[in-house]
Amino acid sequence: MKYPKLRELKEAFTALVKGPYTTKFPKVPSPAAPAYRGKPEFNLEECVVCGACANVCPAEAIEVIETPPQGKEASGVEKETESELPPPGSRRVILHYDNCIFCGQCEVHCLTEKGVHLTQKYDLAVLDRKECIEKVEDKLVFCEHCGAAIATQKHLHWLVERLGPQVFSNPNLFLASHEEIKLMEKGLPREKGLPLGRFDHLRILCPKCRKQLTLKEEWGY
Ligand code: SF4
Ligand code: SF4
Repeated sequence: MKYPKLRELKEAFTALVKGPYTTKFPKVPSPAAPAYRGKPEFNLEECVVCGACANVCPAEAIEVIETPPQGKEASGVEKETESELPPPGSRRVILHYDNCIFCGQCEVHCLTEKGVHLTQKYDLAVLDRKECIEKVEDKLVFCEHCGAAIATQKHLHWLVERLGPQVFSNPNLFLASHEEIKLMEKGLPREKGLPLGRFDHLRILCPKCRKQLTLKEEWGY
């Protein structure tokens, strides 16, 4: 017959008096270490839905979906995913945290520095991986000439707030700063198919069309 060692006996008595070494998680919450990197979450107030975090995510865990304005068909979109699309004329940024490697690059490189944050949440078990998402969305602003998406409304407003009087040097931002006249949403009435002209200076235009207009006005190209 083998007899227990004295050390093991001592540990057994200590455990009887002090209780087990293991925690009672999940019955009792067990907080993570202060520097722990857990589930990334968007801050709905601070995120401007620019999509920059998707560009720096090494695991490609962040997806950006854009839909054309009302009345235009979404190209390259599977029928079965149509119901999951954001409303017409919007951008949705989706963070699939089941693919996340918790590197923190999205938080470090966030445009506003506060749009996404790695929380200390680590208990992320779910029955369906489709539930592992965090999302933000906002309306897009489109070029009034070619229809290309320029930025989200929140993004333009964020720039307006930071630039102050300097917005007067950029017609898009100047128009965005006058939210009350709703130019960013509706634009000025414009005849379809009309080439770019002087009357387009005070319109929302993408950089390509703005360049074309300036070259035409200044140099006659
Ligand atoms: S923490 Fe890293 S892997 Fe996770 S979403 Fe952010 S950038 Fe991507
Ligand atoms: S979290 Fe930051 S980088 Fe990502 S979409 Fe929001 S504002 Fe842009």
